[in-house]
Amino acid sequence: MKYEFWFVVGSQFLYGEEVLETVAKRAGEMAEELSKVLPFPLVYKVTAKTNKEISDVVREANYAENCAGIVTWCHTFSPSKMWINGFAALQKPWCHLATQYNRQIPNEEIDMDFMNLNQAAHGDREHGFIGARMRMKRKIIAGYWKDTPVRERLGRWMRTAVGAAVSRSMKVMRFGDNMREVAVTEGDKVEAQIKLGWQVNTWAVGDLVKEMNAVTEAEVDALVAEYTAAYDIATDNTAAIRYQAREEIAIRKMMDAEGCKAFTNTFQDLYGMEQLPGLASQHLMARGYGYGGEGDWKVSAMTAILKAMGEGGNGASGFMEDYTYHFGEDGNYSLGAHMLEVCPSLAAGKPRIETHHLGIGMNEKDPARLVFEGKAGPAIVVSLIDMGGRLRLICQDIRCVKPILPMPNLPVARVMWQALPDLTTGVECWITAGGAHHTVLSYDVTAEQMKDWANMMDIEFVHIGKDTTVEQLEKDLFLADLAWKLR
Ligand code: MN
Repeated sequence: MKYEFWFVVGSQFLYGEEVLETVAKRAGEMAEELSKVLPFPLVYKVTAKTNKEISDVVREANYAENCAGIVTWCHTFSPSKMWINGFAALQKPWCHLATQYNRQIPNEEIDMDFMNLNQAAHGDREHGFIGARMRMKRKIIAGYWKDTPVRERLGRWMRTAVGAAVSRSMKVMRFGDNMREVAVTEGDKVEAQIKLGWQVNTWAVGDLVKEMNAVTEAEVDALVAEYTAAYDIATDNTAAIRYQAREEIAIRKMMDAEGCKAFTNTFQDLYGMEQLPGLASQHLMARGYGYGGEGDWKVSAMTAILKAMGEGGNGASGFMEDYTYHFGEDGNYSLGAHMLEVCPSLAAGKPRIETHHLGIGMNEKDPARLVFEGKAGPAIVVSLIDMGGRLRLICQDIRCVKPILPMPNLPVARVMWQALPDLTTGVECWITAGGAHHTVLSYDVTAEQMKDWANMMDIEFVHIGKDTTVEQLEKDLFLADLAWKLR
């Protein structure tokens, strides 16, 4: 889908034809200039002066599949009662860009004509009131439209709105159920579909095995050639690599046939398969598919959505699991990994394909997997949990580091990080909020984007960052619990 955003500029008839022509000309120029630097085109649609013009463009936006959201701005004063009918019908994400055409006040030239043409400062306040009065979900970005921070925030909001669109069409393919007895990976799939749009359904592992048996040697050869080009082969066990290729091709065929962008499996249900998909799941994630281990469909769909929200539509985001801590004199760290399935988009260098024994699950043969160290840099971890009656999205800021130990006997990819505000407070906050051991780790999606996404999807959002304390978080969660029960 080639997504775009629509630019709707508010005005009224009061100022005369000439002012309206200037507003329209400038709005077109701004959309064109911004489109050169934004990740998606911003298409100027209309200088709206009537209730009907606004209702019409909203109706059109709601129906246009490629329109991922609208951006509004009031160059002049635009009385907001004429926006009510349109806004009441709006189903797409909305960003109010509070800006103005000129950067500075022209000292000598400023007169009443200038004031009538350039009055966003009060036009945008009238516009903001109706958003507040109608309790609208919206993003407000204030600043000069040519300034880089404004453009970057608008760009990130666009990616987030695309994440909302991707969510509303998300289909998850489940092979097997959740891992036995595990609570946090459970959830209300009906509620998830109502709120987030996700279609989460199950397919038989036996059907996957049938599909695997139908994969040709030529198909396997072609995918192994791709592996060889992208990764270092650090095993003599080519049969294991070929087996993973066969698994990847079969899973992908089944997902593509159903239009699924994410999948789950479980080591407890691999009947007819020799190996848990490791390299296969990792390479599918590299292609942009979501994955969740142990039947965790929530983290799988979230992985696909964060990938779509990242740089270039397939960012550095992947399925992650908190494994073990390092409480050292050299600092406190979390070590994240998974049994096999860590996305190579998180890798600092070229991943190696290795084969090792895997004791957990029903692996008849040693599965091939990619082994690497994660990149250093700021990142987030995100967990979606079902609180019973509502979904809660928890996002924590982290600082990834080059792993401080080589860990030569660890047979899986690993990422090491420091949680914010610090490891122990961060862990206490995470556990207080009920965050899962499974997360999506992302280097290029920000906490602000996740907050905006939660807002677009109308779910609870909890952010743990550099200023979070356990005491304040407990109060926030208590009040949020009451507020969400009243809704
Ligand atoms: Mn796991």
